[in-house]
Amino acid sequence: MTDRRPIVGGNWKMNTRRSSARELATAVVSSMADASPACDVVVIPPLVYLADVAEIVRGTSVRLGAQNVYPAADGAMTGEISIGMLQDLGVDTVVVGHSERRHEIGEPDALIAAKLRAVLESGLTAILCVGETLDQREGGDHERFTLGQLDSALAGLDSISADRLVIAYEPVWAIGTGMTATPADAQSMHAAIRQWLISQYDASLASSIRIQYGGSVKAGNAAELFAGPDVDGGLIGGASLNAEDFTAIVRAAAAPASLAQEGRLS
Ligand code: PEP
Repeated sequence: MTDRRPIVGGNWKMNTRRSSARELATAVVSSMADASPACDVVVIPPLVYLADVAEIVRGTSVRLGAQNVYPAADGAMTGEISIGMLQDLGVDTVVVGHSERRHEIGEPDALIAAKLRAVLESGLTAILCVGETLDQREGGDHERFTLGQLDSALAGLDSISADRLVIAYEPVWAIGTGMTATPADAQSMHAAIRQWLISQYDASLASSIRIQYGGSVKAGNAAELFAGPDVDGGLIGGASLNAEDFTAIVRAAAAPASLAQEGRLS
């Protein structure tokens, strides 16, 4: 048995406006106060609303995450945001390597590796996203590709803290599409990731790192997707925009097996 505490992140992507971001954060905070889940919960609003959401989550169990960062301190980098700026606002978690930044915006592996290093060295927590495209899955190349992304992002990081690194396995074809990996396929990739961590670091570190699943997780499928022994919660896009759905997903992460058996989330 492991004592990893599940972690659920709500990635709001480029959604909400200032008032709806504040309303959503307020609703999440109030439902988490009622649920007090055995699970870490992070809300990840658009960067421009971080200060608003920070004000609402401050002093609560809900953590604040950023969708992006630039890996340099200060200076001439128009349009970018530094780690120090995020820390100023109370951000404690940063998403790195999300598939939309890799595939839509074209962030290369080297930039993702630099971001990851900067986040980890600053003492913030990184959620490092990895995952294959549909072609890679259909060609049977999904595991090699996904582990290769990890290899590239973590290259040269010889000592990492299990508290500071979360890996999100997010098959690209499942993000925002309504398609999900099967629970067995998700568990199989998570186990392969953990094996890879053992081979690069050690068993104790590998067994402490949380590995989230992401890709069309909803209130109705969360319990079965989170039931695998190597699945430690999820990174949630669309369903995190509704506080009730997000809360149901958090509850499923906190107690996946028991809730699935009771059928309370189906
Ligand atoms: C995501 O944004 O990381 C994600 C998994 O999105 P969705 O839940 O909408 O598929």
